[in-house]
Amino acid sequence: MSLIQNRAAVAPVRHHISLRADLAVNLPDVAGMVATLRPEEPLHCVRPAVIAAASRAFVQAFNGDVLYAVKCNPEPAVLRAVWEGGVRHFDCASIAEVTLVRRMFPGAAIHFMHPVKSRSAIRQAWLQHGVRDFVFDTQDELNKIMEELATPECAALQAKPGLFVRLGLPKSSAAIDLSLKFGADFATAITLLRAARPLAGKLGVAFHVGSQCMDPLAWREAMELTGIVIHRAGVRVDVIDVGGGFPVAYPDLDPPPLGAFMAEIDAAFDRLDLPGIKLWAEPGRALAAGGGSVVVQVQLRKGNMLYVNDGVYGSLSDAGALGFRFPARLIPAANPRTGAPDAAFSLFGPTCDSADVMHGPFMLPETVREGDWIEIGQLGAYGACLRTAFNGFDRSALVEVRDAAMLQTAGYQEAVMELPFAYSRAA
Ligand SMILES: *Cc1c(COP(=O)(O)O)cnc(C)c1O
Repeated sequence: MSLIQNRAAVAPVRHHISLRADLAVNLPDVAGMVATLRPEEPLHCVRPAVIAAASRAFVQAFNGDVLYAVKCNPEPAVLRAVWEGGVRHFDCASIAEVTLVRRMFPGAAIHFMHPVKSRSAIRQAWLQHGVRDFVFDTQDELNKIMEELATPECAALQAKPGLFVRLGLPKSSAAIDLSLKFGADFATAITLLRAARPLAGKLGVAFHVGSQCMDPLAWREAMELTGIVIHRAGVRVDVIDVGGGFPVAYPDLDPPPLGAFMAEIDAAFDRLDLPGIKLWAEPGRALAAGGGSVVVQVQLRKGNMLYVNDGVYGSLSDAGALGFRFPARLIPAANPRTGAPDAAFSLFGPTCDSADVMHGPFMLPETVREGDWIEIGQLGAYGACLRTAFNGFDRSALVEVRDAAMLQTAGYQEAVMELPFAYSRAA
């Protein structure tokens, strides 16, 4: 008997409420689902039409290939919606993500954009899933990739990989800075580009300005740095990957419109004067955030403290230590109590950890009480995918709904106004 049990840290959502085919264009709404199910466990609500519309808006606005960053929400319903919005490229960071995307979309282009990969993941991606593009930020990782592709099975395919140098950026103004963990410095990036050119079928430079980056100028600066690196390296480069980080609206964050980010990228790209190079982007949050929410139930009220059934070890991680604010609305358990003024509440998650607290504030009618439900929005990215089984609170359900996003992000609303458009659900 094996002592090792391979068990995913995050179990799949326990029951996916299946919808009949004829509901595909006629999904329920959140309030209706809550009235029917009266859920005592967190209910994750996916808005496929919102995600499809945001994806479509981004694909139309961006002057290159759009890769969905699967890590921000790998839920099949979300992946289907991103595909529906016209995205055909996927940025994967693990073999599990690669396998999932390939199983769902045989025709998708999958790119392995994590700068540190296991050897078996490299081989498996290459051999079994048709992945050709790999990112790295050190000579050691480049060596690792090339060694694995030189093994007899891999070499038999006689293809040259796409090789992408991840360029480090100075610390950014983004909400989540990634510069400490990944990225080659200026001199290393030049060396790596020169080393990779003769090995690469396609050579690229990739960067990430940090997640929820509110400042379009961050992309201008990153593009300028990329241009200098490419000129100094003196080798032909085929792709510049401008990464993710595109922001969405939260209650206290109102980002510039999508077009402002695209204008900076396009203008900076023109100034580089590098004809023949293609642009890629890897948005995650921007495509998925508006399309997800969680419905939690109030289990106890102590003044302005509400004890609810989901928290920082569930889908509300970013509301904890990171202090993100999210839009919230009350779905009362009985007798709609309308007209009460809003008050500021803190939420406390179900685990016994005192860190399981979300200070918000969450603005809710002051009449909120035990048994009521609260829908928390803009959680389609880095929400449900982060949940754990800590303290036994790992149960939840998922439903696809037709509601609009709880907050609109500028630049995406034209597509959102097409709601409800016919949304066809893959079999
Ligand atoms: C997380 C990540 C993304 C997506 O970032 P968002 O801020 O969600 O757009 C894209 N590329 C890489 C390499 C990432 O690690």
